[in-house]
Parts: sequence; structure tokens; C-alpha cells
Amino acid sequence: MNDPYGSFVSSALGKRVTGALGLPQPVELRRYEPGQPLITGTVLVLGATPAADAARGLLTAAGVQVVSERAEGARLAGVVACFDGVRAPSELSAVALELGPALRQLGSSARVVTVFEDPEDPSVAADPAARAARQGVVGLTRSLGKEMRRGGTANGLILGSGVPLTAPGAAGALRFLLSGRSAFVSGQFLPVTTADGSTPADLARPLEGKVAVVTGAARGIGAAIIATLARDGARVVGVDVPAAGDALAGVVNKLGGTALALDITAPDAGARILEHCRTRHGRMDIVVHNAGITRDKLLANMDAARWDSVLAVNTSSQLAMNAAFLAEDARDVVGEGLRIVGLASTSGIAGNRGQTNYAASKAGVMGLTSATAPMLAERGGTINAVAPGFIETEMTAKIPLATRELGRRLNSLQQGGRPQDVAEAIAYLVSDGAGGTNGATLRVCGQAIMGA
Ligand code: NAD
Repeated sequence: MNDPYGSFVSSALGKRVTGALGLPQPVELRRYEPGQPLITGTVLVLGATPAADAARGLLTAAGVQVVSERAEGARLAGVVACFDGVRAPSELSAVALELGPALRQLGSSARVVTVFEDPEDPSVAADPAARAARQGVVGLTRSLGKEMRRGGTANGLILGSGVPLTAPGAAGALRFLLSGRSAFVSGQFLPVTTADGSTPADLARPLEGKVAVVTGAARGIGAAIIATLARDGARVVGVDVPAAGDALAGVVNKLGGTALALDITAPDAGARILEHCRTRHGRMDIVVHNAGITRDKLLANMDAARWDSVLAVNTSSQLAMNAAFLAEDARDVVGEGLRIVGLASTSGIAGNRGQTNYAASKAGVMGLTSATAPMLAERGGTINAVAPGFIETEMTAKIPLATRELGRRLNSLQQGGRPQDVAEAIAYLVSDGAGGTNGATLRVCGQAIMGA
């Protein structure tokens, strides 16, 4: 990775100099490795609520050391702060003010997870005090993400109406947010809207027995995604343009997967993916729409070729392929429980100069994801989007140095993410443990201040 500042900061001299000047001091993040415990050290669970009781039970069962009260001076690996049941803003203080001093006891790459009920839930639509309290946790969590130090993250787990933390999808979300899999996710919210999902039999291989298709798998983030899904037990199919055939073969051969040379904008792309899965694997359980392109220009200078190609590859192809996968005649390959994840971008959320076409395409991915969610829910499946921020890839290595340094440092973790970080979020969202999350967009951006 071409990050001279990051290497300098990790040296003894670099630490002294940057510390004295008050410059960013990014640290190496705790990332998931197979066989690693969920979280190493003590987790403080705050609250006297059903979610707090559930968190204590779940974490204890997972072998985590759990405490309900803070002991002065004791090191903590994480805090789960439960705000379920709050009916008025004044009720936030009890847990918030217990959480405060605990922050000073956190080790590096620590995790804070707030658990609360959905502020948008219809049951509080006409209850301004309850809605204010729930929405308050959103603000608290986002600010906390910005106050975390030494690679620590703070995220929220939002429980839908009637969904207890013991529901498989909620328990899966809690595991993801506490684990090294969420290293570059901070200041974000995972909504668990239904009690669907199941806990994978083997948490180290949650995708065992599934067949997963990844587009744009020949390099970059796609290559990391396909390797991660294979690591988690899936049989994998890599798709990329014919010109990337050699690179694609190199990636999938190492994983024991199969390759399909295909331009995803071809009208029969969905049908060809289905046919490949039908003949080579007999089924298709997971699709990751990762292939994407940029053709940056200020809108004043934009031409039709740039605009149209970006929308075609990044958005329209996903729409057309999803329609093919959900069609009646695909039922012999696509069973119940299809899982889809589309790659969006923080550009689609914040906008970015020179990227009107790209931002339109990626905001479009988020739109199509939420609109397709009910169709997947009908068949026990889910569709979600992942919006990466600044990720260290060939694409971002080409950005001029000053702009690159800004993109890389202007987030709460003060560093760029790795393709692996995006891949871990996707691997989580396509697993059975994420069955309660549908139609959502999860940002993997280290809580970026600007769009990528
Ligand atoms: P990349 O350019 O390194 O890789 C993209 C892959 O998609 C390539 O292998 C390419 O051949 C393939 N592809 C492009 N058009 C295709 C088509 N028509 N048919 C089949 N395959 C096609 O990009 P990356 O940086 O790895 O990004 C992967 C995804 O993540 C993209 O959707 C991108 O928009 C998104 N993203 C990346 C970043 C980042 O920082 N790198 C940030 C936000 C979002």
C-alpha cells in the first residue's frame, strides 16, 4: 500500500513528531483472522433492559468475559450500551453518563455498540418524546465515533418493532459490530427490521454449502470479496470482462471456483450467469454486484459516452440482472433465500466534484436496493448495499497525492480502508446471520467526513 505518512507515523520518530504537531496518528486496525475470538478482553454491557440481558447472555455464550459495572482502572475491549425502551430524552442520561468514563478504559481497536429501537418505527410516529429519545441515540453514536481513539469504532444496532436482540439477525449484527470484521465501519447503523435469519452452524464458515457469484472479481475489491466468500465456505463464481480473463482465472483458480467471462451490460448477462450456475454448480445463493467504473468529468464537460457507460455498468446492469434472477424461470437455480449485495459508494451519499455520473449511479444502487427489498423478503432473501469510502486500491492510488491524503485522512480512523474491509461487510450481509437486515446501505468508510 502506497501510504508513506502511515508508515512514518508507525515509527518511533514518526509518533513523536506527529504527536508534537497534533497531526493524525492512525493505528493498525484489529482485523478478523479465521480462528480469532469474537473480541479479546472484557466487554461492559450497560443498561437494565431486555436488550442488555440478551447481550449479556449472547456474549457469555460466545465465550466473552462480560461485566455489568465498570471497575475503576480495569481495561475494556468494548461496551454495549443498551437504550431500548427510552421514552423521553431525559432517559438517555443514565446509560450515556455511565458510558462516558468507560471510554477512558478502552484498549486499542475497541468497540462501542449502542442498541436502540428504530426512531422511524410507526409506533412512535405520534410520540415526539419517544422519537426524540431514539433519534438522540443516533446523534450520540455518530459523535462517539468521532471521539473514539486508537482504532476504536462506535456503531448502532437498530432494533425493528418487536425484534429482540436475541433474534438471529440481531445477534448476528452484534457479533459483526464487535468483531474484527467491522474494522473500518464506524459511526454507522445496522438496522435489524425482522426476526428472520438463523445462526450459522459453524461461525467460522458461515457460507458453507452456498454458491456465490461476484462480478468484477478479477482485481481490487472484487478479488477480495470473492476470496473472503470462499474463505467463509462458499463455492465461488467470478465474473469479469473477457479482457480481464487471465487475471480472473488467476483469482478463481486459487479458490477452487469457476470463471465466467462476461460484460455485465450485455442484455443476456443475467441469463448467462444463471446458465453458468445451473450447469457448473446446480444452484445460486449469493450475488455480489461489485463491477463498477468511473468516468469522471465536471458536468459542464460531460459527454454522453461517459455518462451512459457509468449508469449502464453501475446501475442498469444490476436492475436487469436482479430481474433475471427473480424471474419464475430462474427458480430451478435460485432457491429460497437469495442474498444480493450491490456496491454503492459514499459519493452516492455525499456527492463528489467531477462525479455527477458516478454519484447518480451509486445513489441509484441504494434506491434500487431499498425498492427491491420487498421482492426478496417474499422469498426469504435479502438485498443490501455497501457504500465504501476511501479504499486503498489501484483506483485510489492514481489520485494525485494531496487529494489522496485528504481522502485517506478525513475520517474518524484517519486512514484508508482495505479491500478486505469491504469484503468482510459483504460476507456478513450475505450470511444467514444477517437475515433480519433487508434494503439497507452499510457504509464502510471509517466515518468519512467527505464523499469518496
Ligand atoms: P476496479 O476498477 O479495481 O475493479 C473493477 C472490476 O470490475 C474490474 O476487474 C473490471 O474489469 C470489472 N468490470 C468493469 N466493467 C465491467 C463490466 N461491464 N462487466 C464485467 N466486469 C466489469 O474497482 P474497485 O476499486 O475494486 O471497485 C469495486 C467496486 O467498488 C466498484 O463498484 C466501485 O465503484 C466501488 N467503490 C470503490 C471504491 C474505492 O475506493 N476503490 C470506493 C467506493 C466504491
